[in-house]
Amino acid sequence: MSTHTLPIGDFLLTSIPIWPGRMMNPSQLFQNQTLDEIDDARAKFPYYFGETNQELKFTLNAFLLRGPHGNVLIDTGVPSETQPSPLLVGLEEVGLSPDDIHFVVFTHRDGDHVGGGTVDGRPAFPRARYFIGHTEYEHFRADQSRAETFANHITPLETAGLLEVVANDAEIVPEVHLYLTPGHRSGATSVTVNRRTTHHGAIILADTWHSAIQVTLPDWHMMFDEDGHAASATRRQVIEMAERDDLLVAVPHTIDHGFGKVRRDEHGYKWDPFT
Ligand SMILES: [Zn+2]
Repeated sequence: MSTHTLPIGDFLLTSIPIWPGRMMNPSQLFQNQTLDEIDDARAKFPYYFGETNQELKFTLNAFLLRGPHGNVLIDTGVPSETQPSPLLVGLEEVGLSPDDIHFVVFTHRDGDHVGGGTVDGRPAFPRARYFIGHTEYEHFRADQSRAETFANHITPLETAGLLEVVANDAEIVPEVHLYLTPGHRSGATSVTVNRRTTHHGAIILADTWHSAIQVTLPDWHMMFDEDGHAASATRRQVIEMAERDDLLVAVPHTIDHGFGKVRRDEHGYKWDPFT
């Protein structure tokens, strides 16, 4: 699995695979759903499942946005046991080194999104400014269950003077903004690109959904969601906005590089992947 790049107006958006080809158990992920409901979803959406009803395809992508004002990395994957990491391999594939990253955005506090921002206690992208929305930062700092993640991956950035805690709708570079999508995490911020430009806009999600089946089944919430009801409400709002505004959607844990669009059909909404 290698990187995949799509144009969005003046920008290039690249999906960098961190964990290609994983499977998760859907009954564990969607604990509010019965096995019958999972079997029914598997019958309707076989592409998103493995050989049995114990397997749901699950992946992890980071995203790189190249544009006129610099290179923005949106999330950084997990700490890597191999060097170079899948993140650096992906950057190299498009001709970039760590020094070429100008901005890093952390969409939320989880280790699979912030873990690659530092290597051995040092900033992995020493020339970058790192951004996090202020609500997520404050909740991250107070989250005892993530104290180690904060110490390993945020403190070194603060020590180096590279971290900027910004408004939940901050502009990162012109036409690129944070967009609050609470639920999975209380202060999670997705990232929008060209929001005012019809047919050339995009949104990179902060785990607003994980599997693409949640576009059709937005009330299926993940065991990982901090507030399942808020996550469902945000998911519905983003699904409606993405369809209405014809946004390209980039999703960290969704297969096919995570790229697709939300379409309407006679049953509601569905995911149309860019394969
Ligand atoms: Zn995640």
